[in-house]
Amino acid sequence: MAAYFHSVTLEKDKCMGCTNCIKRCPTEAIRVREGKAKIIDERCIDCGECIRVCHNHAKRALTDPLEIIKAYPYPVALPAPTLYSQFSHKFKVDQIIQGLLNLGFFRVWEVARGAEIATQVLVKYLENHALPKPVISAACPAVLRLIQVRYPELLEHVIPIESPMEISARLAKKELEEEGYPVEQVGVFFISPCAAKVTSVKNPLGVKKSQVDGVIAISDIYGPLLAQLASTASGSIQPRASGAGIGWAVIGGESRLLPFNQTLSVDGIANVVRVLDDIAMGKLKEVDFIEGLACMGGCVGGPLTIENSYLSKTRIQNLSKKYGMSYPEVAPEFACSEFFWTEKIEPCSVLVLDEDLALAMQKLETLDEIHKALPGLDCGSCGAPTCRALAEDIVRGLAVEIDCIFKLREKVTDLAERMVELSSKLPPSIGKPR
Ligand code: SF4
Ligand code: SF4
Repeated sequence: MAAYFHSVTLEKDKCMGCTNCIKRCPTEAIRVREGKAKIIDERCIDCGECIRVCHNHAKRALTDPLEIIKAYPYPVALPAPTLYSQFSHKFKVDQIIQGLLNLGFFRVWEVARGAEIATQVLVKYLENHALPKPVISAACPAVLRLIQVRYPELLEHVIPIESPMEISARLAKKELEEEGYPVEQVGVFFISPCAAKVTSVKNPLGVKKSQVDGVIAISDIYGPLLAQLASTASGSIQPRASGAGIGWAVIGGESRLLPFNQTLSVDGIANVVRVLDDIAMGKLKEVDFIEGLACMGGCVGGPLTIENSYLSKTRIQNLSKKYGMSYPEVAPEFACSEFFWTEKIEPCSVLVLDEDLALAMQKLETLDEIHKALPGLDCGSCGAPTCRALAEDIVRGLAVEIDCIFKLREKVTDLAERMVELSSKLPPSIGKPR
């Protein structure tokens, strides 16, 4: 089996082993060993939280450079709606699209249009399929992977339809092919706020192969695009996406378009974990739909963005107002089912202690005992995020009890006391008779 690709990687030289990142990782996928962070591949969901918290910039997302578009005669840009929020309101959406064309893209296909289509596909899907409540959005690939590794029992709640990015990529290719361009010469590039999207292109979930040929970080294209905007006049291009599609960039943007009575829009991976915990415990059954986005504020808070996410949110809301909420119906030539997932997402329970249930139970008991004996301070000095995570590492054979500095001190103190005691005990040949 091919190794799982991860977008989020560590630049070892820059890592100071400060342990900041281990505490914020929602799947406890990071340890500090020999003074450097180490990502446990099977657990990482590429949410980018560690990129955000590392002040030493030791974590980064592997994305493609802008030059990659030269590999295709007909490169198409798929700007995430978040891109529009990165620039001052004095730059209009049509200028941004023109700026992308000036950078060498042959065509621009707005992902906000893909979001409008996704909305309609989603409604159609739910008209004909009953899913257990609450139904969970599949829009955020980090949340989807989180469900796969930490809450596999909730996979059946997820709506199995393609993401706006995939829908846009497929339609962009189709459009150019219909216009007579050889499809193998068309390269489609997502302009991304998101590290998890890079992973979802390399290791797609729900579809066999991604239609996206490369992912360029917003933070990388920002400078060249800004330089273009300064000399690009507004008015030459008609943007096609509505405010509804653009609104998907912020939390609540998806759910407000859906015909549900009770929806929860949850942003920030720690909050999403709390809500998924509740669903796993059988709570929240009265909620119809949950939109969970890993980043605070939604994709405007993505790890590959430049702008302050609060400002970006306001800009997206203003754009939504400006471009209105009505958008065209999915063109009749497309059956909505064309955008349903074709592949089942298999559970990936990397967190279970053993495949054998009886052994897993035994290990869990040992884990609980070890955990109880640890100080419970969750200080991170051992390189694991919590005392429980250290106990788990011990059970898995990846750590030992004296990795805990308190346990080590206890052992050293105990040893010292015994040494002192021993030193007072002289052999009868030179000491007192016993
Ligand atoms: S936050 Fe993590 S990656 Fe960054 S320096 Fe600290 S330990 Fe290393
Ligand atoms: S909220 Fe958006 S940017 Fe953040 S991980 Fe999810 S899809 Fe990516």
